[in-house]
Amino acid sequence: MGAELVVALDSANREQALELAERLIPVTPWMKVGLELFTSAGPEVVARLKDMGAKVFLDLKFHDIPSTVGRATAAAVLAGADMCNVHIAGGEAVCRAAAEAARRAQTGESACLVLGVTVLTSVGPGAGPDTGPGVSGEPLGLSALVADYARRARAWGLRGVVCSGWEAAAVKRVAGPDTICLCPGIRPPGADRHDQQRVCSPLEAARAGADFLVVGRPITGASRPEAAAGEIIASYAQEVPYGKA
Ligand code: C5P
Repeated sequence: MGAELVVALDSANREQALELAERLIPVTPWMKVGLELFTSAGPEVVARLKDMGAKVFLDLKFHDIPSTVGRATAAAVLAGADMCNVHIAGGEAVCRAAAEAARRAQTGESACLVLGVTVLTSVGPGAGPDTGPGVSGEPLGLSALVADYARRARAWGLRGVVCSGWEAAAVKRVAGPDTICLCPGIRPPGADRHDQQRVCSPLEAARAGADFLVVGRPITGASRPEAAAGEIIASYAQEVPYGKA
């Protein structure tokens, strides 16, 4: 078991994001390019981060018809993404199209990991789809719904899921221990939750089996972002080693 830290470079300013990445890459190579930065700076920012030695999680959460998602996933791989994602709610054909397109577009040795988004970590229990039917049609609790999404996502060719630390253990149990769990909504004890609801501390998420911890504002808003990132890693690495399983 091991957990890696991914920093969400959430900024509309390319220069600011790259400056931040330069300070953070020596602490952890994983940088997340999301909607805000990608919409402002485009795919060139991914290439630039790769040149700087980063591993890039392109977090664009594709949710469209299968052919569009397939072509967009291929474009993400060609842009240099090491990891990208689609909404599992799009269904089987969408997930299969993304997985297949990534496989075909792959040129280098290390495959781009395609993950499925389950239920956003900004959705709290009782406020989201936990009262509605799961993909299978039966009403499910939030953890069971997320685990059910994960089981289907794996059967449809995805390598893992984006979920909160609350569901990581259930995901591994239901979808298999090799299912990658990437968990946003991570907050050091006492830190501001902002708009996140299903939050976990880095240690709680790592203990639950998270493979990747995504942290944005607690690092990007700190006066010394590299120190904040280092403290987050130190807060779990004695118990769950930093790095791959
Ligand atoms: O600043 P904060 O740590 O809340 O940033 C979390 C990042 O993870 C944001 O970029 C957000 O878009 C992303 N994310 C999330 N919940 C998901 C998927 C992605 O918070 N389910």
